[in-house]
Formats: sequence, C-alpha cells, structure tokens
Amino acid sequence: MAAADIETKHFQAETRKVLDIVINSLYTERDIFVRELVSNAADALEKFRHYSLVEQVEFDTHVPLEITIDCDDKNHTLTISDTGIGMSKEELETNLGTIAHSGSSQFLQELAEAAKKDVNLIGQFGVGFYSVFMAAKKVRVQSRPASGEEGHEWASDGGGTYTISPCPGLHRGTKIIIDLKEDAHNYAVKFTIERIIQQYSTFIPFPVKVEGKTVNTVQAIWARSKNEITDEEYNEFYKFIGNAVDEPLYRFHFTADAPLAIQALLYVPKENFEVLGMGRMQPGVNLYCQKVLIDQHSENILPEWLRFLKGVVDSEDLPLNISRQSLQDNALVLKLRRVLTKRIIKFFNEEADKDATKYQEFWRTFGIFIKEAITSDFEHREDLGKLLRFESSAGEAGEMVSLDAYVNRMVEGQDSIYYINGPSRSAVENGPYVEMFKKKGVEIIYTLEPIDDFVLSHLGAYRDKKLVSADRADLDLSKTTGKQEDTVATPQEEALATDSLEQLCAWMKEVLGERVQAVKASTRLVDSPAMIVNVDGFMSSSMERLLKASGQGEGFGMGGKKDMEINASSPLIKKLATLRESDTDFAAELAWQIYDNARIQAGLDIDPMEMVQRNYRILERAAGR
Ligand code: ADP
Ligand code: MG
Repeated sequence: MAAADIETKHFQAETRKVLDIVINSLYTERDIFVRELVSNAADALEKFRHYSLVEQVEFDTHVPLEITIDCDDKNHTLTISDTGIGMSKEELETNLGTIAHSGSSQFLQELAEAAKKDVNLIGQFGVGFYSVFMAAKKVRVQSRPASGEEGHEWASDGGGTYTISPCPGLHRGTKIIIDLKEDAHNYAVKFTIERIIQQYSTFIPFPVKVEGKTVNTVQAIWARSKNEITDEEYNEFYKFIGNAVDEPLYRFHFTADAPLAIQALLYVPKENFEVLGMGRMQPGVNLYCQKVLIDQHSENILPEWLRFLKGVVDSEDLPLNISRQSLQDNALVLKLRRVLTKRIIKFFNEEADKDATKYQEFWRTFGIFIKEAITSDFEHREDLGKLLRFESSAGEAGEMVSLDAYVNRMVEGQDSIYYINGPSRSAVENGPYVEMFKKKGVEIIYTLEPIDDFVLSHLGAYRDKKLVSADRADLDLSKTTGKQEDTVATPQEEALATDSLEQLCAWMKEVLGERVQAVKASTRLVDSPAMIVNVDGFMSSSMERLLKASGQGEGFGMGGKKDMEINASSPLIKKLATLRESDTDFAAELAWQIYDNARIQAGLDIDPMEMVQRNYRILERAAGR
C-alpha cells in the first residue's frame, strides 16, 4: 500500500486519558479485555441481525453470524473476528478515537475512581474497547460495514496516535488483530481463551469458535420454562447481562400470553451505581422480539425510574423489523411498558410481604428510584405509594414502616397521615413539632431525607388519607383521640390569661414585622415556647430548604408565608408578657431570639452574626451586670 494512503491521527484528549487509566491501573485483571472484545463482537452481530431485517442486504449474505477466535502461540497474536455490522472509515474514527461521554472531566474522574475500586466496574463506562491495550503492544482493527462499502484498517499502539488506511478484500464485519505484550503472551494460548469465554461469555447468543471449535452453548434463557432453569444458570445470566461480578438482590422471571405475549427476565443488582458516583445510569434492559435484539439498553420498554434493572424483555407481538426510532411512540411498546411496570411494582410488593428485611435492603439501596417514580409516574402513583418506607414515631431508630402499616394503626378521629422532616431522628424527636403527637399518642412519620416532603406532597394522599406535614399552620389534632392518659389531664402549668396572651401576640407581631404573617397562641405546643408553621399548604419548611439548595429559593427570611405559634403555658412566654411592660427593649431582644430559635428548629436559615451578637447581649444580662 502506498504510504500516502496511511493517515495518522491523534486521539481525542479525553480518550488518551482513558487509555492511560486503563493501561496503568487495570493490569491486574487483564482477562476482562477478552470479555469486552467478545461482547463488542456480539453487539455487532445483534446489530447486523436487526439491520438485515430492516434493510435489504445484498452483500456477503451467505456469511454466517458468528465470532471466530484464533490463537497464534508462535507469533504471540490473538485475533477476534465477527461477521457483524462492521464499521466504515468514519465509524472507526469516532468509535475508536473518541469516547461518547467526551468532554466530561467528571466522567474521567469517576472512571479513575471506579478503576481503583473495582476493575469490573469499567465495563459500565462504555470504554470497553480500550481495555485491549492492557495486553496489546499493537492493535489492528480491520472492518468492513454491512453496506458493502470498502473496508479500512485502524491501527494503534495505544500511545497518542492511530493510523487509518484502506484495506480492500475484507468480508463483512470486524477483525481485531492483537500483538500481545511480552508479559501477556498467555492470551495466545487456546486453553486460556477457552477458559475466559466459558467464564464470561457463555450466554453470547452466537457461536463463539476458538480454533474452529464452538465453545459456548447458544441459548435464550428467558424463553425457557422456569422450572428447567437452575439458580446457577440464572445467576450466570445475570453476570453476563448485567456486566456484574456478584449475585443479584432480586430476580423476576415473568411470562404472559394475554393481553400481550411477554417473556421478561429482570434482575435487581446489589449496588446502586448512581450513588457510587458513576453518574446517571443507562437503562439496563434489552428489548428482544423472538430472541432477536431490537433495542439494547432500551429507553422505551420501561419507565426511566426503572433504569436500575438489568435483564431482557422479549415480546413476539412486536414487528421484527421495527426501527429503533419508531419504538418511541409505538402504541404496542407503550402498552408493553404499562403492563410490565404494573407487574414489576406488584413484584416488589410481594417481595416486601415475603421478606421484609430483604425488602429493607432493597429500599435502602433503590428507594431513591421509587421516590423519583412518585414524582414522575402519575399513572402508578398509588401502587408506588405502597412501596414507600420511612421511620416513624411508632418504630425504633432504623426501623422502617410502610404507609399501609401507618394507616392500619391510625387512631380514632384521625383522618390524615402526618409527617415531619428533619436532618436526623433525634433532631425531629426533640423538636417542637412532635410534642402534641407524642402527648396524644398519634403516630408521625419522620422523613429524614430532604427530598421526602417533595415526594409526599406529590403523592398528596394515600388510601384516601391526606398526607400532611406537621409544620402546617392549619394542622388540627383536636378530634383525634389517641392515648388514654391524654384525657387524664397532666397537671398543666397555668396558662397565660387570654387577654394578656392576645396582647403579647399582637406586640410580638409588631416587633417581628414582616418576618411573620401572624403570631398566634398554639394549641399544639407542650414544652417548647414557640414554633414556626407554614401557612401555604404546599410549602413545608423542608420544601423551602430543598428549593433553596437547588438555587430556586429566595434569600433568608423570605420563602413561603409563615406564622409563629407561641405556647401560653411556657414559663418563658409568661415571663415575656410581664417583661414587655417593664422593659420593652429587652423583651424585644428576647422575642427576636425566640423567633430565631424557632427558625432553627424548623431547619430554616437565620442571620447567624446578628443572632450571636444578640445572644451575647442577653447572656451579659443573665450573668448580671
Ligand atoms: P461500548 O461497547 O460500550 O459502546 P466500546 O469501547 O466497547 O464501548 O466500543 C466502542 C464502540 O466501537 C462501540 O459502541 C461500537 O460502535 C464500536 N465497536 C467496537 N467493536 C466493534 C465491532 N467488533 N464491530 C462493530 N463495531 C464495534
Ligand atoms: Mg463494548
């Protein structure tokens, strides 16, 4: 070939970094490069199979769909060929010269972290091809696309550059020729390759031939009947489809004939990769029709919030030649998705009933997706509400209760489900909002994540019981009768007389000005002198924190309308009523301090500098001048 035909190109900067990470930090688990290349070959074959259903193929039609591996132990080369979709010159450059997640330095950082933690995580990042450089001195990729357009060779030693040149006379598909590094010569040994294929790639749905002999059994496990499949086979398939090394938390094999023909084999992993800092997950379920892959990592077959599932959905009702684009608004796909979603939610509920402890493990790891679902999947909202778990005043720390358990325990006269948000269980339990609940023996849910109130206000109600945040101004517990001893009056502090109470409220409102909408006498405080309550039903204090954290809230002291409730039986409030007359200025300082304290207990922000200065003035006085 004329030297002029060979073009030398530079890898995209990000790609070079990926290469560095892959080559330098992953060499301990080199076997995975074989798995990555074989899985790319299988992907290419699946793509071709689908392509041949959608397009008229005229070239190389006789070539069988398979993966061929040749080991040359003398020259220390390993060659992996497939008869799949192949790549054009442009595709060689974009697919092997750049990375899809390009430009994101965060991505690279996460990759480096993951590589340090567990080499197997690398497959999740879609940088599989580059793993070849763990073992390769030099790699040549010869490829000819299924369209029949002439082939090209891409070659690189994993340094800064690669070359591209014409390569005539190829069959359809891709051949990867690997010159092995000195210390990786064992990958040209037939036995080694056979072992790796058997370990990682037994479920490849095409024959994998090593030195002419097929080494895998081709099967679509999801299409077989449940009682013929062993746990081991199920787990092996999970490892294959989920790119996983451990066993799944849950497995769900589901078949139906009506209203649609569905075969689904789905798994819940043990880990949530999104919280492991790997960014947003790609959907993990592939869509098949009669065992032909239609849509890998399908965005359409399940709602987005189920992206943590791994597995396969096969429906023979789908037209085989459907294109990926038309899946999006295909009525049948929408119907499939609805049926599956319902079934999956039901499955989780059944599992929760069967083994509550295991379900809690699921909830801790994937509860965040259920919460996401409630805010995004209106259709299944009520069913999803069943899956929620929270701590509550009826349980021990760390114990989770369901809304069903809560509703079943509701006391006489109670018509709502109550919840209160706080940064920790002890913060909530020591705060003013639960005082009357404790006294009356009414259960209250503790929502300890910032997102929880947003989720519950989206849910709105459960089993026709309204979900109500306990920091609402219009909360009324007077009709609920919980604990018996509640009616046997505990010796109460004598409360402030009504008219001085009213005057005190009016005066405090005057002092605090626009910062509160009103100051009112509380019917629910037991010990605390005061608390902040929200006048707008939708805007709980925790919602306000959430909005503020996301940059949508306004500055401090703004936000939703608030009242302050004061406790007429509190010694401090009673003293304040007297002090107001004898020393108005100092009483005003106390009023402000009470207000700030109540804001802190509500988790709302205050002006800390102003508060500290005032607090010192008060302390000075308390210490005696
Ligand atoms: P991923 O498989 O996650 O997309 P890889 O780094 O393994 O990432 O591969 C990058 C891309 O290169 C693939 O998406 C595919 O488009 C292309 N590719 C790799 N191997 C082959 C092959 N054998 N045949 C056709 N295309 C391939
Ligand atoms: Mg790959």
